[in-house]
Amino acid sequence: MPDARIELKEIEHALHHGEFCFYYQPKISFSTGQIVGGEALLRGIKSDGTVVPPGDFLPQAEQSGFITNITAVMLPELVEDIEKISIVKSDAQIAFNISALDLYSPYMVKMLRSFIGSKRINPGNIQIEVTETALVDNSERINIALLDLVALGIEIAMDDFGTGYSSLDLLSRLPISTLKLDQGVVRRMSEDVKNTHIVRSSLYMARELSIKTVAEGVESRGTYTYLMAAGCNEVQGFWISPPLPLDDYIALCAENPQWPGSSFGLLYNAWVNHISYRRKVLDAALTLSMTDQDEWISLPKMDLAHSPARCRLGQWYMGEISDSEENRRQFKQLEEPHRLMHAAGASLIKAIRTQSTARNITRATRIFLEYSDVVDAEVSRIVERDLERTFDELDMEKGKEIPSIANLVSEYDIE
Ligand code: C2E
Ligand code: CA
Ligand code: CA
Repeated sequence: MPDARIELKEIEHALHHGEFCFYYQPKISFSTGQIVGGEALLRGIKSDGTVVPPGDFLPQAEQSGFITNITAVMLPELVEDIEKISIVKSDAQIAFNISALDLYSPYMVKMLRSFIGSKRINPGNIQIEVTETALVDNSERINIALLDLVALGIEIAMDDFGTGYSSLDLLSRLPISTLKLDQGVVRRMSEDVKNTHIVRSSLYMARELSIKTVAEGVESRGTYTYLMAAGCNEVQGFWISPPLPLDDYIALCAENPQWPGSSFGLLYNAWVNHISYRRKVLDAALTLSMTDQDEWISLPKMDLAHSPARCRLGQWYMGEISDSEENRRQFKQLEEPHRLMHAAGASLIKAIRTQSTARNITRATRIFLEYSDVVDAEVSRIVERDLERTFDELDMEKGKEIPSIANLVSEYDIE
């Protein structure tokens, strides 16, 4: 195949002569710092061994519709690769990129159903990545195809999040369980604080929607650590590894290398969720009491998650999110005040819904805020202990002394 802008005829020839294969880029979990899976990325391999990137042939294949032939031929190859990867890492989740045209053709879902039905792969071993742009013409057929995949147990990830047009609306309408932050947005965090806000808000929003987040295009340790602290779930990028030929990827999985990992970010998120819950209860109390009862039906749905098991903080200390035995023990003491806080929140909302007296409602509000303060103070202590442990582990003995708070106050002229 010649350089860039390969002609369709050559692409067809390459496909039918087995000149395509997948490279695999490792995907790391921020909480453990270990490989959890990877992304399959198409490559053309010329007879002289030159590797052709997808940018040189995908646009033509997309435009002509030939992409569905590529998918149909390469999907069985992907499944074979996954079988090999599973030998060293049985729970590896391999993401596969598809185009909108693949969702219009019935073959992809049929093929996947048969691979899963014959137990060649588990649905958890494969994830489908779709770009926002591909989903924009939100037709019924695309929605049905995605629901079919979800019914098979396959997760759908929205790729390049932050570059499309109507992604927010799509998130609420389609069965998306993972959001992949676009690499441009991730990289531009070091240029403009607005990008940092966009990334942080996207992570926050995904969390509120119970959607997993993956950052891609991470090229430096600083970006890696920052996203870990911001509570992103998984990460890919050249700082960890470029896409690798299958054998190299399998060898890496077998080695089980360790990158920095911490569940800090998740703890902070659970904390922010707790504070946001307090806000939501108070907002709901105000909204309900200022709206006529016959209009309540038209109010926005308010996700108050009064049950501790449904709230992020509860899920985290109950072990779904927190990972170590030690953590779980430490957070046992949160359980009682947390349960009482949710009961108080439910009681406050009920007092308003049943149109209790102003005195009762004020009292219920005070009790709710008191319990919520106890939970807040307890989480703040856990965060402090966690940070102390981390700073102790880092060798910072020879650092400079910092000025006293009193000095800083006069320096900044704080009253
Ligand atoms: P993508 O899905 O957004 O994939 C990520 C691209 O970013 C890959 O380029 C990857 O090699 C590159 N990348 C990963 N980490 C870094 C990093 O830290 N820095 C930089 N600068 N780049 C990084 P690649 O392999 O050239 O793929 C380009 C695009 O081609 C993909 O973008 C995807 O949209 C498409 N593609 C790849 N394989 C397939 C496939 O099998 N089917 C379909 N339909 N599209 C595919
Ligand atoms: Ca992708
Ligand atoms: Ca991407």
